[in-house]
Amino acid sequence: MLKRTKPYVYACSFCLKNHQQITRLIAGPNRIYICNECVMHFVDSEVLPEHNQQLVCSFCGKQQQQIANIWSGEHGVNICSECLELCVDIIAASSSHNA
Ligand SMILES: [Zn+2]
Ligand SMILES: [Zn+2]
Repeated sequence: MLKRTKPYVYACSFCLKNHQQITRLIAGPNRIYICNECVMHFVDSEVLPEHNQQLVCSFCGKQQQQIANIWSGEHGVNICSECLELCVDIIAASSSHNA
């Protein structure tokens, strides 16, 4: 009966890696998480301009028309440029003493 069903597994909502597979996991509201790898991936990638659907940032809840850019993950989660910048800051702050 040793099932690996923990009541609370911290995993990136974008790539679904859990906290043991990634260096940094940044928690947003509503149990949304993003890992440092996804943050860097989104920073490096262009926004898809062909998105016609109404995207809402999973972190701050702003709608696409209220924000400059939004990136959508593969699992129904999105992150806007403001939240992404925040995550970049958090990662930079936590890794600065390691430079
Ligand atoms: Zn991730
Ligand atoms: Zn946002």
